[in-house]
Amino acid sequence: MNKGHRFIALIGLLTLLLLTTLCGCEFIDSVLGKNSEQNRLPGGLNPQQSENKSEHSSGQSNENLGGSTDGSCEHELLWIEQIEPTCEEEGRLAHYYCSICESCFNEAIEPLYSIIAPSLGHAYGTLYDAKPSTFFEKGNVEYYHCFNCGRFFDKNLLYINDVTTDKISTELAIGINGQIKADFEIVEESSDRITWQISGLKVTAGDVVTVCLKNNTENAFEFSVEPNCNLNSQNNQIYKSAVSNVTLTATPNLMTISVDGYYSVGMIYYVGYASGQAESAMEKSQTENGEHLVTLTLSANDYIYVNAYEYDGVTEEYVNSYCALVNTSSQIAVEQSPFIKICESGTYTVIFNENTKTVTIVKV
Ligand SMILES: [Zn+2]
Ligand SMILES: [Zn+2]
Repeated sequence: MNKGHRFIALIGLLTLLLLTTLCGCEFIDSVLGKNSEQNRLPGGLNPQQSENKSEHSSGQSNENLGGSTDGSCEHELLWIEQIEPTCEEEGRLAHYYCSICESCFNEAIEPLYSIIAPSLGHAYGTLYDAKPSTFFEKGNVEYYHCFNCGRFFDKNLLYINDVTTDKISTELAIGINGQIKADFEIVEESSDRITWQISGLKVTAGDVVTVCLKNNTENAFEFSVEPNCNLNSQNNQIYKSAVSNVTLTATPNLMTISVDGYYSVGMIYYVGYASGQAESAMEKSQTENGEHLVTLTLSANDYIYVNAYEYDGVTEEYVNSYCALVNTSSQIAVEQSPFIKICESGTYTVIFNENTKTVTIVKV
């Protein structure tokens, strides 16, 4: 092949490609006769041979039989199946393609200037609300869901593969004044309830308690405070210094916390007898009205030493003790507080009132 011939061949090929492109026809499919063997209509149209032919096209077909769009082609028509358009991709209309003049026709053998089926565009619908994850269930971000293609999109209509968010980690810690103080341990776990605990945590009055992920003081969890515990539900501050057990419970909708270790108040007494014997005792039990009682048989010149104490309820340690105020009466004399001298022999009841922090000694 000389240069001239090659040039002409090249021009021919380019023209062919250009025509194919302009027409939009599936040139290769047509040439290969793909999916079109039975619908091939050699030398012109014979609509009865086509499965996809309709009544009305058969009525019109003879007009074009043996003619081209400009009347010069004896069309050799191939039936090209449609390709459904998608949300983002164009499709192709079902059509006839002439392998000679490379024109496209509809079922009625009318010329088609485009066989493109436009893309549908996504049907976003309404924005679904975000749902927060819990310890028990995955959540989701807010999203659109195209009901054509089933894909998910974020609120900015950007494609997202997965709208779900992982369950929250159950690896939790307690923060005191913004610093991680101790890690919780799970002591019970079921499908709708988790209980964590920290034992023997030293807390100080005024400490602010938070619950957060281990090693992460950011994003503290919201919790409600169980009543009658050593934590102020208004400001999450510890009421009283103590060694505490902290119990955290989560259900799908709620997290609650309880901090024990309230100090309780009691009485210690020491009796010094005139005989020289001595006895000491302590009283931790509380009565309903906040009074602690002990009954003693005493002689003149015996003496009693009474201390009030605070007790943290956890460690069996006295946290603080102090002298109680003592009433005076004719039977006793406060010699040098807290030593109380007994003036008359008899049976005495020693009463410590934890609310008023006073000691009353009454002769029975
Ligand atoms: Zn033709
Ligand atoms: Zn879509």
